[in-house]
Amino acid sequence: MDPAGKVALVTGGNSGLGAGAAERLASLGATVVSCDVAGEAPAGVDFISCDVSDEASVKAAVAETVARHGRIDICCNNAGVGGLGPIATAEGPGDIADFARVIGINLMGAVRVAAHVGHAMIANEPSGPDGERGVIVNTCSIASFEGQEGMGAYTAAKAALKELTLVWARDLARHGIRVNAVAPGFMATPMVAMLPPDLVNELLRDVEFPKRAGTGEDFAAAVEFLIRTPLVNGEVLRLDGGARPPA
Ligand code: NAD
Repeated sequence: MDPAGKVALVTGGNSGLGAGAAERLASLGATVVSCDVAGEAPAGVDFISCDVSDEASVKAAVAETVARHGRIDICCNNAGVGGLGPIATAEGPGDIADFARVIGINLMGAVRVAAHVGHAMIANEPSGPDGERGVIVNTCSIASFEGQEGMGAYTAAKAALKELTLVWARDLARHGIRVNAVAPGFMATPMVAMLPPDLVNELLRDVEFPKRAGTGEDFAAAVEFLIRTPLVNGEVLRLDGGARPPA
């Protein structure tokens, strides 16, 4: 799908990777809406306040996007938060409420967005040579493949989202909607500012080349590829400089 003239909804589009994707899609001629719970949308990007942990909020944001711009062709299902904490320590059990909070945003948030956006996309007129109605790009993580110490909730959410990418590609294929994902490695965004330096070093040590943190522009390039490439469906694209933790 060519983003020019299309309508794109980006969750978490006010910061980091989502802002990178929103800026790229706007520069390619899409009408872009950032649905976010905090911050400001990048220049040239519309904003609708939305908390993906709340279904009524997601439903309202999708309806408002369609009311303002007529339809949704592209969705970057990207909003997410970090989360750190062991499952138990000598002092006591881990923070189960925080585990549920991270799952509620990173997994259930993505489910709510895919459900409401997918429903909106099914109403689109098919377009292009393949009769496509929409493209969804989920933001997974290298944690979708292997979690790090203390990242149980985050890993559970991102691993489930990886599996759901293929399931949703199958669910929505009959409607002409493709579903893919990007699985970023270590990306320099506000989210990772909370990670301890030891963990950052560990994450960068596993990177082969280029040996640096990724950026919003790197992410946007992967998102653009997945949106534009018709036969790519149900794919989880690693964006990690070849990072492979030792087996
Ligand atoms: P970020 O903190 O810069 O951006 C996340 C955005 O999501 C923020 O604008 C935030 O306000 C928004 N958000 C958080 N909770 C929300 C909610 N309940 N409803 C709506 N919006 C909400 O972080 P980022 O690094 O750009 O993260 C974007 C995505 O990339 C996340 O899903 C994250 O898990 C994933 N990711 C990041 C990295 C990395 O190294 N930074 C690596 C792999 C995956």
